[in-house]
Amino acid sequence: MIHVFKCEKCNKTYEEYIRISEPITSKCPSCKKSAKKIFGFYGIKIGETWPQYNVQADKTFDSRHQEDSYFESIGAVKV
Ligand SMILES: [Zn+2]
Repeated sequence: MIHVFKCEKCNKTYEEYIRISEPITSKCPSCKKSAKKIFGFYGIKIGETWPQYNVQADKTFDSRHQEDSYFESIGAVKV
């Protein structure tokens, strides 16, 4: 499972794969201080940028909100 950690000392944010059976702890790769978990699930995209082209809609959207509105307006379930 991919976890996202943030080092409280140098503010570095990084991802690390940790097995479900293992404790969710991590050490900052830069300064070796223990880092704090900030996200612990799939689906978070770091550095998501807009505008973004959507293949299903064959359109380019300026924001996540605009994309959601479009799919809502056509009554589609976004995948
Ligand atoms: Zn650090």
